[in-house]
Amino acid sequence: MACGGGRGCVALRGAQIRDLLDAKHNVLFDCDGVIWNGETAVTGAPEVVSLLKQRGKRVFFVTNNCTRPRENYVQKFSRLGFADVAEEEIFSSAYCSAAYLRDVARLRGKVYVIGCGGVMKELRDAGVPVAEEEDAEPGASIYTCPLDPDVKAVLVGYDENFTFMKLAKACCYLRNSECLFLATDPDPWHPLRGGRVTPGSGSLTAALETASSRKATVIGKPSCFMFDCIASQFGVDPAHSLMIGDRLETDVLFGSNCGLTTVLTLTGVSTLQEALAYRDSQEPQQKNCAPDYVMESVADFLQALED
Ligand SMILES: [Mg+2]
Repeated sequence: MACGGGRGCVALRGAQIRDLLDAKHNVLFDCDGVIWNGETAVTGAPEVVSLLKQRGKRVFFVTNNCTRPRENYVQKFSRLGFADVAEEEIFSSAYCSAAYLRDVARLRGKVYVIGCGGVMKELRDAGVPVAEEEDAEPGASIYTCPLDPDVKAVLVGYDENFTFMKLAKACCYLRNSECLFLATDPDPWHPLRGGRVTPGSGSLTAALETASSRKATVIGKPSCFMFDCIASQFGVDPAHSLMIGDRLETDVLFGSNCGLTTVLTLTGVSTLQEALAYRDSQEPQQKNCAPDYVMESVADFLQALED
């Protein structure tokens, strides 16, 4: 079977789908653009997840979306018709960032956060101390705003309340070369309804990287840390794992970086043309963004699972 290594963007159909599923014990799904789009489940996706579990597969969800804590994801899965998805199966960039600060960096001090509620909740749950944001005092400026001497890390994620003042403070903290610089994920933007887009964590991180002349350590895909989290908790073997995503530069590259077989679905951000362009590129780094397989939708798994 032409699975793994080739990165050939092979169109998956029929018996090939069954062979692929037979060869894999673990299936990792990206969420937005793969199993749902916003508040709408991709048709057939809840059935595919249920059937995979009934067939004895381990299923995990790996998302760069840091806006909600895992307990909110459990509610979303249930709301959209996915049965029995447990918190332990969900690996978000917010959860993994908190795990990194607690278990890998063993942070002794506080983290200054540019981010949203999902990041804050996961940090609190992990027991990682967060530098409290002072209520904006009238007239406060970067010359006069207080800086917390206990800050030993800066974490940047998606933040709809991003301000010049937050950027300036983070920049001051990063003047200390021992202060860690982390980003939840590198996503540049996200699609919204009606053709609009919203800037992603990656765009905010880029602003701080420029301002601080430093590079952030990325926790989310395509970094392997999220897979390390799954592997350490569940003893997952990359050779027996499948990564299914809709974004070539994060999901597919993540799969390639971690030694997983990759599938691009066309229900989200990336297109078949973009996948083929990566496949045909002369740059080895670019080739790693080309998936092993391409399918229209995760619903294409249904037939192989129902027989
Ligand atoms: Mg996605």
